[in-house]
Amino acid sequence: MIETVDLLIHARWIVPVEPAGVVLEDHSVAVRGGDIVALLPRARAAATFRADTIVELPEHLLMPGLVNLHVHAAMNLMRGIADDMPLMRWLQEAIWPTEARHVSAAFVRDGTLLAAAEMLRGGITTCNDMYFHPEAAAEAFSTLGMRAVVGVVMLEFPTPFASDADDYLRKGLAARDRWQADPLIDFAIAPHAPYTVSDASFGRALAIADELGLPIHIHVHETKGEIADSLAAHGMRPLSRLARLGLLGENLIGVHAVHLDDSDIELLARHGCSVAHCPTSNMKLASGIAPVTRLLEAGIRVGLGTDGAASNNRLDLLQEMRHAALLAKVASHDATAVPAHTALHMATLGGAQALGLGARIGSIEPGKAADLCAVDLGRLHCRPRFDPVSHLVYVAGREDVSHVWVNGETRVDKGVALLHIRDSELLRLASVWQTKLGN
Ligand SMILES: [Zn+2]
Repeated sequence: MIETVDLLIHARWIVPVEPAGVVLEDHSVAVRGGDIVALLPRARAAATFRADTIVELPEHLLMPGLVNLHVHAAMNLMRGIADDMPLMRWLQEAIWPTEARHVSAAFVRDGTLLAAAEMLRGGITTCNDMYFHPEAAAEAFSTLGMRAVVGVVMLEFPTPFASDADDYLRKGLAARDRWQADPLIDFAIAPHAPYTVSDASFGRALAIADELGLPIHIHVHETKGEIADSLAAHGMRPLSRLARLGLLGENLIGVHAVHLDDSDIELLARHGCSVAHCPTSNMKLASGIAPVTRLLEAGIRVGLGTDGAASNNRLDLLQEMRHAALLAKVASHDATAVPAHTALHMATLGGAQALGLGARIGSIEPGKAADLCAVDLGRLHCRPRFDPVSHLVYVAGREDVSHVWVNGETRVDKGVALLHIRDSELLRLASVWQTKLGN
């Protein structure tokens, strides 16, 4: 009996990510109502399904949509505004003063539109965002049809967005209430970092995350200075302080986690925390190298993040996969560290599980959402090709992303973005803000 589906994708290679390490040749994915309903050999798919839309991917690798586990999307407006500076000088001399002058709901909406358009084109279907004005970010992600976990950001110090930690929480939670019905938009509690949030505010963040069942998204152990300052101020390392406050748990996503000793890794493992590894940002700000091989050996979930465009300067998860694989090898003096399949797992299912979305996205399995990305491995720079996953991580670039679907809806088709806002309008927004920030 023939079944009707909305979309049938025939691909040369399908890498479902779960089960791990598998590459299927000449298989198909059937999609109905935004969900994956079947993954099966092409010959059987043709006999089983009739589809409204059929997409042929004869030279392509089809994989789950990429999950960017750490981004400050609106910072796209500050891409390249201050480079070649260490983290604290970069924050104190360049980023925070610019933000104090310019950040508004309009800044966040426009910057997030630019970031979402960049990410979708590059195969990223979900991101974990942390920035001011989360309601404006949610609006931008929703407008462009990108799945996002929007952070309810918290700091102690006042900004044009909020006056104190409680005000940040109140405004962020109001945004969550407004966007609750959108199937693509989720929220996390996002205390910025141990050095910008007090014990009392962490207590309130934890109570709310527990009550609402939300992830906690926080920068941790990014620089050596952060650890020395915490020892001076609190008599303990930042992760020990978070453990004492009860924040470490399966819903905690620790971003960067560069400077870790054995006790830090043990804490993360014992509490089931996840790490958002941001290799390019760590290299660019000379923060150091996160001990990813040891984190994986300890059974800690690791996903990949780009960080914001002001510290990367691309929101490009294919680049992060390559950098994660290369950096792990050079750091451990072991060429077998973070092989290509592991890098892909981190960029997909690892990030999805960290966000608590592992049952919905991150792999190509029946019942999951059809968040999918196809990469064209047919061009000259990808020949010859003995191993498609090796090519994905070590050869291909985001310019090779040919098709992207979010919840079964087409966002990129044959390399052309099909978004609700035209490129000409996005370029106009970028130049308006360049003029403002440049003055
Ligand atoms: Zn960050």
